Amino acid sequence: MKLILATNNQNKLREIREMLESTGVSVVSQSEAGISCEVEETGTTFAENAAIKAEVIWAMAAANGLHCYVLADDSGLSVDALNGEPGVYSHRWAGEHATDADRILKMLSAMKAVPDGERGAHFACNMCLIEPNGEKHHFEGRVQGEILHEARGTNGFGYDPVFGYGGRSFAELSAEEKNAVSHRHNALMQVLDYFRSIQ
Ligand code: IMP
Repeated sequence: MKLILATNNQNKLREIREMLESTGVSVVSQSEAGISCEVEETGTTFAENAAIKAEVIWAMAAANGLHCYVLADDSGLSVDALNGEPGVYSHRWAGEHATDADRILKMLSAMKAVPDGERGAHFACNMCLIEPNGEKHHFEGRVQGEILHEARGTNGFGYDPVFGYGGRSFAELSAEEKNAVSHRHNALMQVLDYFRSIQ
């Protein structure tokens, strides 16, 4: 089965490829499918943004004669003490051209005065799958953790260095360890269950 992944985010692409490696699903990035475009995320929920990205890429693939499955991932970090922020705005929270380091600094600063026990947070990932016939499905995964007092580790991407899970940060986990528990894993396992159910 061939799946076009509607993203230009190399980290999402890498993690989804790693998780699908032994499943028989072959992942093609949108650029490998000959689609060059940066979709504007105008939604206010993960599900809306995932649908926007999947719909645009599905339509462009169909226009090129490519009728296959398209999957989009919209994800982010929601922090209890910040009333769920940055949530759907995780990527843009520290500014349009901010780096991961800028986002991490902003998070540590926003959480500076928040005591242990009130630092709960979760990553959420909404995946929108569009079938070759245009039928659309959503799957949502989450992982619960806490915001650390300092950045730790060098693996992963995004907010991983400040996301504490089981005594380590996500950036201190190996790729295999993160991929076994992450929000992306939890959503992707539902996608795989769906594929199995229609075979
Ligand atoms: P978007 O889904 O393209 O809107 O971007 C989501 C943003 O959330 C990313 O740029 C990261 O900053 C953050 N994010 C999503 N998933 C992860 C993850 O697995 N680890 C760390 N940060 C993540």
